[in-house]
Amino acid sequence: MSTAVPFRRTKIIFTLGPATESEAMLEKMIGGGADIIRLNMAHAKHEWTRTVIRRIRAVSARLNRDVAIMMDIKGPEIRTGDLEVPIELRAGEIFDFTVRPGMSEGNGGGAEEVRSVGVNYQDLAKDIKVGDTVLVDNGLLRLEVLEKNEARIRCRVLIAGELKSRRHINLPGVKVNLPSFTEKDRADSTVGLEEGIDFLALSFVREAKDIELLRAFLAEKKSRVRIIAKIEDQSAIAHLNEIVAACDGLMVARGDLGIECPFEELPVIQRQAVRACLAQGRPVIVATHMLESMISQPVPTRAEITDVANAVYELADCVMLSGETTIGKYPLECLQMLDIISRRIEREADDEWKEPAVFTGERMKVLHSAVVLANELPNSKLITFTRHGFMAQGLAMLRPWHSPILAFTPSADVFRQLRLLRAVEPFLMPLAAEPDATIENAIALLRRAGRIAPGDKIVIATDIVAQDQLVDSVQLRTVR
Ligand code: PEP
Repeated sequence: MSTAVPFRRTKIIFTLGPATESEAMLEKMIGGGADIIRLNMAHAKHEWTRTVIRRIRAVSARLNRDVAIMMDIKGPEIRTGDLEVPIELRAGEIFDFTVRPGMSEGNGGGAEEVRSVGVNYQDLAKDIKVGDTVLVDNGLLRLEVLEKNEARIRCRVLIAGELKSRRHINLPGVKVNLPSFTEKDRADSTVGLEEGIDFLALSFVREAKDIELLRAFLAEKKSRVRIIAKIEDQSAIAHLNEIVAACDGLMVARGDLGIECPFEELPVIQRQAVRACLAQGRPVIVATHMLESMISQPVPTRAEITDVANAVYELADCVMLSGETTIGKYPLECLQMLDIISRRIEREADDEWKEPAVFTGERMKVLHSAVVLANELPNSKLITFTRHGFMAQGLAMLRPWHSPILAFTPSADVFRQLRLLRAVEPFLMPLAAEPDATIENAIALLRRAGRIAPGDKIVIATDIVAQDQLVDSVQLRTVR
């Protein structure tokens, strides 16, 4: 029997880093109810990646609690070059970003000489316009473009500060012509697929065709890994519905979104993105800065508690931790905090959600009738059987008010991927040739696990054989 983690509808993702990568910490985090572990390839070497994936699998096996692994590839990212020592930028100073190798970089120069740093993207001067804003290091430094030529972009510093080596550059509203799936992404993904990851999160998805490129790569590798599209800039917002349709799940990557878009738009975008996913039946993750102050403090701020609650009220599938669990002092406390807040808010949200999702197709109508029935029966449980995860995803997208979705699959890969879906509790079990035998086996397993008891109402959405045909069915049973 697996490590007993009480059922929670909202799933928790945490990012692995120095604070959580040891066996001892992994045991605590997996045993403490984490559902998915994220590897951020912006900071990871291949040897480390292989080591930690194997470690996660080993700890999961020991605890008998399989979690999913999400590799987050960095996509088209622009960075400043190396500096021997940081540059202290002064407000009003004229400063150059050089885009051709061989140009002077770094701190050189007397009083009149313009200081500069290199940038890893040669065509930046083509994409950017005079008057555009350049944000460096998560928006800590702000510059305005004054003029440009083939070799450099000349700016004025608006918000001063220290510029260190290899800082991330954001260009709000600028359409950058970098490939969406880079050579580095291809190399990272190959390592991930070799090690058996479950999800690939693609950064800076700008339109649906970015996802198609990754899908083609996965098809080439004959992989069933699911694609999470990270929306992080204005182009993604302009193409939101097509991105949702093309991906297997969406991440509202609020770190970069909060830099690329006016900050007051962020809550509006989050709500739109979650609603777009609910309408199209795609899982959605709300990410970044959920418990940021807990990087150094053992308790969250009131505003952070409310932010987590808001994501749960919005019926997101997952909430995600980043710096809190990579470098933070209190990673386990962060996990516990998300767990406590989610459970509490789920009790409220379940009663409030009455809006039906938009859906098409006969199978979805059958699943909808199962959810309507379960909603009418207090303490009922939904049960389904799913080879590829679609039946479970169909039920999850309808957001049953109170019933858990107990999803049985014969596939270990699908089992882990089901960890992404709101209200789904996965079970690994071979499916019998006869649908009725499968149902009996599932009921017996749930009894042994203490998940059902005599008198409970169960609503089963599954295929049955009728007149030699497989047909979709909804059954209501009382556990004996
Ligand atoms: C984000 O920007 O919120 C995010 C999750 O992406 P990254 O951590 O890769 O910048």
